[in-house]
Amino acid sequence: MKQYDIIVIGGGHAGIEAARASARMLCSTALITMSTSTIGVLSCNPSIGGSAKGHLVKEIDAIGGIMPLIADRSGLQFKMLNTSKGPAIWSPRSQNDKFLYPMYAQQSLQNIGNLEILEGTVEKLLISGREVYGVIYNGEEIRCKALILCGGTFLNGIMYTGKEQTVGGRINEKAARGLSDSLLEYGFEIGRLKTGTPPRIYADSIDYAKVRIESGDESPTPFSHRTTHVKNTMVCYGTNTSKQTHAILEQGFIDSPMFTGLITGRGPRYCPSIEDKIYRFQERDSHQIILEPESLFGNSVYVNGFSTSLPKEIQEQALRTIPGLEHVRIEKYGYAVEYDFFYPYQLMYTLESKRLNRLYTAGQINGTSGYEEAASQGLIAGINAAAKVKGIPELILERSDAYIGVMIDDLVNKSSDEPYRIFTSLAEYRLLLRQDNAFERLYEKTAHYGLHGGSERKVVKSIQLRKELEESLQQVRIPKDSVNDIYASVQETPVKESELITTMCKRPSVTLSLIREKTSVLDSWKGTAFDSILRQADIDIKYEGYIARHLADIEKFKELEHKVIPTGYDYDGLTSLSSESREKLKKIKPQSIGQASRIPGVSPTDISLLVIDLKR
Ligand SMILES: Cc1cc2nc3c(=O)[nH]c(=O)nc-3n(C[C@H](O)[C@H](O)[C@H](O)COP(=O)(O)OP(=O)(O)OC[C@H]3O[C@@H](n4cnc5c(N)ncnc54)[C@H](O)[C@@H]3O)c2cc1C
Repeated sequence: MKQYDIIVIGGGHAGIEAARASARMLCSTALITMSTSTIGVLSCNPSIGGSAKGHLVKEIDAIGGIMPLIADRSGLQFKMLNTSKGPAIWSPRSQNDKFLYPMYAQQSLQNIGNLEILEGTVEKLLISGREVYGVIYNGEEIRCKALILCGGTFLNGIMYTGKEQTVGGRINEKAARGLSDSLLEYGFEIGRLKTGTPPRIYADSIDYAKVRIESGDESPTPFSHRTTHVKNTMVCYGTNTSKQTHAILEQGFIDSPMFTGLITGRGPRYCPSIEDKIYRFQERDSHQIILEPESLFGNSVYVNGFSTSLPKEIQEQALRTIPGLEHVRIEKYGYAVEYDFFYPYQLMYTLESKRLNRLYTAGQINGTSGYEEAASQGLIAGINAAAKVKGIPELILERSDAYIGVMIDDLVNKSSDEPYRIFTSLAEYRLLLRQDNAFERLYEKTAHYGLHGGSERKVVKSIQLRKELEESLQQVRIPKDSVNDIYASVQETPVKESELITTMCKRPSVTLSLIREKTSVLDSWKGTAFDSILRQADIDIKYEGYIARHLADIEKFKELEHKVIPTGYDYDGLTSLSSESREKLKKIKPQSIGQASRIPGVSPTDISLLVIDLKR
């Protein structure tokens, strides 16, 4: 009988990171997936990153995961989003080649010494008491010390287009049956969610004279520190729906699985289907559509903004009312998929189950939506499962450490019944959790897990250089005339005396690179290699006050996080608790007062009662 340290089920974005992390931490690992050729497939949009999701990708890079590198290699267009706003919410995004992404993902798993990839379906988990010890796969028993389940949208998946229903987790792929039942027996609370995807159309059926060009950045930047250079090799196109489009779509509502009640699971609120948008925002005559080429090697275009499960003929007629798509030919119709997920309050911060020892779950199965959310959970689950097997400390990221920490904390404590997507607005320490400083936040905390391959040293060096630069700038004064020259060039009011560089940089339009350009004080920092160091030092100086306030808040936050609630604490014994708080606390079983205070419905008064009781 085969025996591994760790079995990972699923070759999606969660499973890839989990298996790679576990194997690189020297655990013998089996990745079991239904089809090895679909490892790393981009089920929906051919794109990585985006608002807050880009932060997750940068954090994966800092910890040593693989998604950022694959995204760079398969990238067709790169764009930093939100640059007209503050640096906290700048987020990198790429359009990717849907054939190259899985190809590089599959290559990244080859030749990892401890990793074996097995093709087939896991039908059952083997559990004894509270311990998971293996799986039945293709009728065969395989044993393990820890198991990571990354089943995505496949558990009891059903796909819908109009009244058509097909059993499956993704187009042309079957569903996973049996796994949910294995876990229901152990008291797991399972729900249903849905997600959808738009039609894909043929590129040569678009009238390009009627659509606008959407370009990438002039100087595109990669996600990964391992990539030296990326370039834009294609553009996207923008267009809009009209009243006529909406009228046609409405005709299909009577056959829509969402409106007829066929689908009961909730879909992502922030990424609604076109029928949902029309229904919810009836005052709007138009919605934006972005046409995103899916590959350099094909003729397929993703119709972003037009996710739908309406009948095929309605999809086609409606698309043909959109400028540029009058003669469109459809390659694949849009569809929705409904699947099982496990309410994530049943998890610990390590992503290990509270119910069964050494069972970890990661990705869409935990109620999230999105490749980046899945990959970052996979990475954390992989590290923690391997850490447990090896008996070394596990990795828990807090809300003040990373967006990954924010996401896991939200999942565990809020355990919503609609798909979870990360947003910058969810992070209370946004200014500290920037995409540009992910490495500085996470490298030292995680380097000992050994997921990096050596190229991280140059980032560590550049962090050191930046600190030296910031230190050296503290007392540098610029003569009045030079200051006023610089201020005049950006329409800032002049001054009467010389100024410290750190004071000058507090003005919104004055940057270190401008000072470098106009004076000789930063001559030793000339050259594009120093650009990012200067940019980051600039943010540190400009936002010094806010950053100091955040750091003080984090100290307070940590105090509460470190007030531990003992496992098995008897909430019934604390009779003064409100019944709502008691019910929530018993369900979620928070590990600390900080965690308890973030559970919706647990009142501040009840938190005070708990603190007093624990002091006793
Ligand atoms: C139709 C559709 C539309 C989507 N729309 C969006 C969107 O608009 N926005 C967005 O952010 N995200 C969207 N997604 C979600 C996105 O694809 C996922 O968030 C992401 O792929 C989740 O990654 P994962 O690793 O959790 O699971 P998946 O990528 O789903 O991978 C699951 C893996 O598990 C394997 N597997 C499952 N069960 C078994 C088993 N029993 N035995 C062996 N292998 C098994 C499968 O073969 C697969 O490899 C959509 C997905 C689909 C299918």
